[in-house]
Amino acid sequence: GANVNKKQTKKGETQLALKWSKSENFAMWYSDVIVLSEMISYYDISGCYILRPWSYKIWELIQDWFNIQIRKLGVENSYFPMFVSKDRLEKEKDHVEGFAPEVAWVTKSGDGDLAAPIAVRPTSETIMYPAFADWIRSHRDLPLKLNQWSNVVRWEFKDPTPFLRTREFLWQEGHTAHASYEDADVMVRQALDLYRRVYEELLAIPVIPGYKTEKEKFAGGHQTTTVEAYIPVSGRAIQGATSHNLGQNFGKMFDINYQDEKGETQIAWQTSWGLTTRTIGVMVMVHGDDTGLILPPRVAPLQCVIVPIVSKTFPLENVAPYCEEILKSLEEKNIRCKLDDRSIYNPGWKYAHWEQKGVPIRIEVGPRDLENRQARLVVRFGGEKIDVGIGTLASSIVTKLEEIQSNMFAKAKEFRDSHLVQVTEWKDFVPNLELHNLVLTPWCGGEHTDWEEWVKEKSREESLQNRGKRAKMRERQLRWRPRLCAFPLISRRWMRG
Ligand code: AMP
Repeated sequence: GANVNKKQTKKGETQLALKWSKSENFAMWYSDVIVLSEMISYYDISGCYILRPWSYKIWELIQDWFNIQIRKLGVENSYFPMFVSKDRLEKEKDHVEGFAPEVAWVTKSGDGDLAAPIAVRPTSETIMYPAFADWIRSHRDLPLKLNQWSNVVRWEFKDPTPFLRTREFLWQEGHTAHASYEDADVMVRQALDLYRRVYEELLAIPVIPGYKTEKEKFAGGHQTTTVEAYIPVSGRAIQGATSHNLGQNFGKMFDINYQDEKGETQIAWQTSWGLTTRTIGVMVMVHGDDTGLILPPRVAPLQCVIVPIVSKTFPLENVAPYCEEILKSLEEKNIRCKLDDRSIYNPGWKYAHWEQKGVPIRIEVGPRDLENRQARLVVRFGGEKIDVGIGTLASSIVTKLEEIQSNMFAKAKEFRDSHLVQVTEWKDFVPNLELHNLVLTPWCGGEHTDWEEWVKEKSREESLQNRGKRAKMRERQLRWRPRLCAFPLISRRWMRG
């Protein structure tokens, strides 16, 4: 927007407005929001996207929090290579079967073929565990708890969606080895609880923790736990993050053995767990509105932006020192804040711009505010406006940000809860899915994968049938419509005479 005309103030004129509404076309709205808010730029390889500073900073804020938490659990950061040999990748049979269709291979360097193709990591079990086998000799080497922040590549064949399903994504992957199943299981739950907290405490999104079915568990693992979020407009659940109990499967394949206290050889029990940049997409989908992003304060790159209301009669010089004073008082309280004193944009444009980027609080400073030594706060979530004296401004904002954070969570939770239904009879299952509800049913668990398949098939069949019925109804409605609007058209023409 470098050549925006200064005189333009309305959103339509500044070309800031979203072209799609969230309820009318969710997919187009989503792509509109993430581009216009300067989170994402598209790239010429399908499934790959550029994370601009506005989204990368959110990822960094998640990282900062997460690093502190895992350190408390004794997990250390490290880094392993991104390439894996074919032999190693294929060592655990179920694991490679699960990932094989999505693995990207490097076969050439320059013009020449590589002696043997190497894979780009889709996940790092097979990269890390040979080293684990080397390092772990005695029970004194356990537990071993490592984490890595990295990118992985999964050449997904389903339609890609920025953040949610991309071919390269950023994540953390935790990998641990323990002396007992119980120790591993504690680790699995601790990691899952951190994921719950990332969603609930940072992103203001309620999640449901639980187990994946046998069919959906991590390839090669023993048991997968998950936190599932609810996407309001689509009415679907989305897998927020997963924490796996790997049992001894990888330990056996990679010879991760150790001598226990009695000198007997044992196989290590392992876990792995991952949280990706999908988090950011879920946050956009849950909280955004027809104006743009709404960011929960705890992950907002900027929590406040100060906009001086300058004009010909009230130039920036008049208010700049006062704005600087406000900025300083906020920075002292560690509030992420910016003074937007750019002269090429007028205040109206700036309001629209920062609203679209989802900044939680706008601080307006005009002539009256200067005179009364106050400022006007405008809250992005809900639109509240309050005038606050400069003496209590910083502390009011700290309180306000916390309030916004908890209100956003409460609203998302209330909505999610109102779409959570328990179903015990099949006849209620598909109708509830079609009402955009999350359906809770009794589950026999364990090995009964036949039922899982049955539910999948049957619900697909039924919803296709219903879609057919709805299409017929729409067709009938369409045939009617021309006749219905004929009257207003005629009467208007008649009135004009
Ligand atoms: P996994 O290692 O397969 O359990 O994946 C860990 C987490 O990554 C999952 O729980 C998803 O939330 C997320 N995830 C999986 N595939 C993708 C993808 N293509 N893009 C972004 N996030 C993903």
